[in-house]
Amino acid sequence: MPIVVQKFGGTSVGNPERIMNVARRVVETQRAGNSVVVVVSAMSGVTDGLIKLARQVSTHPTDREMDVLLATGEQTTIALTAMALHSLGAKAISLTGAQAGIITDGIHTKAKIANVTPRQIRKHLNEGNVCIVAGFQGQTLQGHITTLGRGGSDLTAIAIAAALRADHCEIFTDVDGVYTCDPRVVPDAKKLDIIYYDELLEMASSGAKVMQSRSVEFAKKFNVPFEVRSSFNNNRGTTVKAEQHGLENVVVRGISIERNQAKVTITNVPDRPGTASRIFNALASANVSIDVIVQNVSVSGSTDISFTMNNDDLEKLGGMIDGVAKEIGAGEVIKKGGIAKLSVVGIGMRSHSGVAAKLFDCLGNGGVNIQMISTSEIKIAVIIEESKIESAANFAHAAFGLAD
Ligand code: ADP
Ligand code: ASP
Ligand code: MG
Repeated sequence: MPIVVQKFGGTSVGNPERIMNVARRVVETQRAGNSVVVVVSAMSGVTDGLIKLARQVSTHPTDREMDVLLATGEQTTIALTAMALHSLGAKAISLTGAQAGIITDGIHTKAKIANVTPRQIRKHLNEGNVCIVAGFQGQTLQGHITTLGRGGSDLTAIAIAAALRADHCEIFTDVDGVYTCDPRVVPDAKKLDIIYYDELLEMASSGAKVMQSRSVEFAKKFNVPFEVRSSFNNNRGTTVKAEQHGLENVVVRGISIERNQAKVTITNVPDRPGTASRIFNALASANVSIDVIVQNVSVSGSTDISFTMNNDDLEKLGGMIDGVAKEIGAGEVIKKGGIAKLSVVGIGMRSHSGVAAKLFDCLGNGGVNIQMISTSEIKIAVIIEESKIESAANFAHAAFGLAD
């Protein structure tokens, strides 16, 4: 019997009525002759609510206890979904991440999946059950509960689909698929029929939260094609799959934006070997991910180094960067929040020129100042004022003809 994995996100299971709708869709899929594994998120708002609760009892809750707490969100949904299926007369059983065989490393709050042993899932499917698996959670070999980073139920679904060699993997969400840009930001955005792993990976890792970026990385690594579609209708969604060589590739597939970024500039950094290493090693030890880095050409034996990171990370760092700057004999450290990143993504950029020029033109004409630029083979990203990000996304969307 074909195996289908269906993942439902927070909004799709946001209240009892929606959970009943999910149950009805699952029963339909099973009655069409499939074995069905369902992966669910916590009901919308529940994970955020649990994080707020933790902060009310502790300013620095440990990551281990955060995982024990956050895992309860998904555990509530699996039980409710199984009960909803029972009420429709279907055989169903709920499984926590651990019971579903999801083994992770021990990096609490952002654990990586080390192994999936779907023995229990297979057994329950063979007995005619729908298996309802809690997304976002796993267990270490020592038996500690872990979570997979925000949005991690996507990863659970892809990893289970890979382990079961499922015939279909469907990610049900609150929009019709992957759009050319977040439809909440660009009202003209269009749903894409297909997008390649690499393109969605670039978009997801630069702010398009429609899929967790690690889940797309996993899908690419194990070649798990999947469909992103709406849980509120029966429209066809977006197929995400491996690049097909030889086809004419679109130059720009989509645009993503990332808000809440911060820029740090260390001025007058002595121009000698080892200074950049000292700065970025200190940031790495503090577990901070750095995004764009720019170093000026040195004219008088010293240079300025600027880099961006998430604004929350900058606040977490406190005076750490100032300390490092002093130690290496650099000058003033300028910290600036309120910036954002706009990225233009498409596989056809590998073989087409002129994309950067078109982007800079449209931003210039719209009065948007570019503070930093970074590129990859299939992406051009610019750092701009956060207050201009929505208009910039709309200018770029129109300039590349994405609504046509
Ligand atoms: P779920 O709870 O189902 O996991 P998410 O809220 O994580 O759903 O992701 C869906 C949201 O992603 C959409 O409501 C949309 O606002 C946002 N989004 C951002 N970029 C895109 C994009 N390019 N295409 C579609 N949705 C996007
Ligand atoms: N509930 C988790 C979150 O809100 C995981 C998920 O929804 O995918 O991040
Ligand atoms: Mg999500």
